[in-house]
Amino acid sequence: MTEIRLHDTMAREKRVFTPADPSRVTMYVCGPTVYNRAHIGNARPAVLFDVLARLLRHTYGEDALVYARNVTDVDDKIITSAEAEGVDPSVITKRFEDFYLVDMGALGVRPPNIAPKATENVGEMIDMIARLIETGNAYEADGHVLFHVPSDPNYGALGRRDRDAMIAGARVEVASYKKDPADFVLWKPSAPEVIGWDSPWGRGRPGWHIECSAMIERHLGETIDIHGGGLDLIFPHHENEIAQSRCAHHGAPLARYWMHNGFLSMAGAEKMSKSLGNVVTVADLLEQGHKGETLRLALLSAHYRQPLDWSESLIAQSRATLDRLYRVAADAEPGQPAPEVAEAIADDLNTPLALSRLSAIDDPATLKASAALLGFLTDDATSWFQGEGDARIDALITARAEAKKNRDFVEADRIRSELAAEGILLEDGPAGTTWRRA
Ligand code: AMP
Ligand code: ZN
Repeated sequence: MTEIRLHDTMAREKRVFTPADPSRVTMYVCGPTVYNRAHIGNARPAVLFDVLARLLRHTYGEDALVYARNVTDVDDKIITSAEAEGVDPSVITKRFEDFYLVDMGALGVRPPNIAPKATENVGEMIDMIARLIETGNAYEADGHVLFHVPSDPNYGALGRRDRDAMIAGARVEVASYKKDPADFVLWKPSAPEVIGWDSPWGRGRPGWHIECSAMIERHLGETIDIHGGGLDLIFPHHENEIAQSRCAHHGAPLARYWMHNGFLSMAGAEKMSKSLGNVVTVADLLEQGHKGETLRLALLSAHYRQPLDWSESLIAQSRATLDRLYRVAADAEPGQPAPEVAEAIADDLNTPLALSRLSAIDDPATLKASAALLGFLTDDATSWFQGEGDARIDALITARAEAKKNRDFVEADRIRSELAAEGILLEDGPAGTTWRRA
């Protein structure tokens, strides 16, 4: 069995991965807040943890992994959207949850085993909040329930920030009812017209962090193997999840390994995000005619902990790489995967290394099976090249004419053979070049 090593944010180093129970490996990834279309940055964790899920299933068995990714379907941004459209919040959340599954599906992301919704786990959240009040880790004030940060001496272990940086970073409201400025909301009151549930503290709704702690407890257990998400979730979200769960579970840790992906950015901005207005959605990219598999390869072209700069040329390179791989694999049946590809993935998901090793494989059956470990070459070559339409062929013919004009006959011949390999034959005539399928 290939040894898996994962970078653990808590330990700040790569550690050999050993599940607590190899017959039931548990993983939880914080999922989308469903009120808008996912941008390509949001797709980075979804694709990354899909690769990890494939590796864990490959290693421990198809049925050994229990992978949960939640759906945050109660949130102030959802409430605002619903009010703006004059509809029930469930109309908004249903619409965007469906879009999310369609968009991620196009990128080859398999659905997780469990996709728990916050609104379906409010009873569990109320129960956990009540326990936190009992243990003295939370208190009620002014219709709110707050987690009291100074009650947890281990608070801050994941992000290792000092207290002032944490308070500033969390942009926590300095409200009069808080005992400490770092305290965060577990429960808040809802006005009569706003979505809410009855609770011992009046009608209200949960804060964001408690949903993950409660859903992990219910669906996976007290301590899980792997917890993941984007870098921006380390603080405050994951720090708060850790505090809630540890205090509710008599000190049992929430997760044994913590994994975080770096940011995807565009044109030098720090991070793609809606608030910066530099967003390109997965749906936009698919509409522009890019294939989902091309976008997936672009997302995996950099190591997940490194930043990734999204650009047109990255997409074009990724497409060219896939075209090459499809040409080698042709329509072969998958054989046995190459061990060196599996080893690269097992080494903290080193996808750039795995991709370069894929490119070096010349046996079609081995290539096809190795590519499948990463979710590539899922199509057969004939339909991969057929689906693209004639625009690319026309562009290549133009590029070839240009090369000839510049007396670059090597390039002109290269283009002719590239097309011939796909079964496209060129005929030069007095009126220019025409093409036909062989
Ligand atoms: P959100 O819907 O904003 O909570 O984000 C969903 C997931 O996408 C979280 O795991 C975020 O950390 C992640 N994420 C958001 N923006 C980016 C980005 N620009 N690059 C990489 N990951 C991101
Ligand atoms: Zn979470």
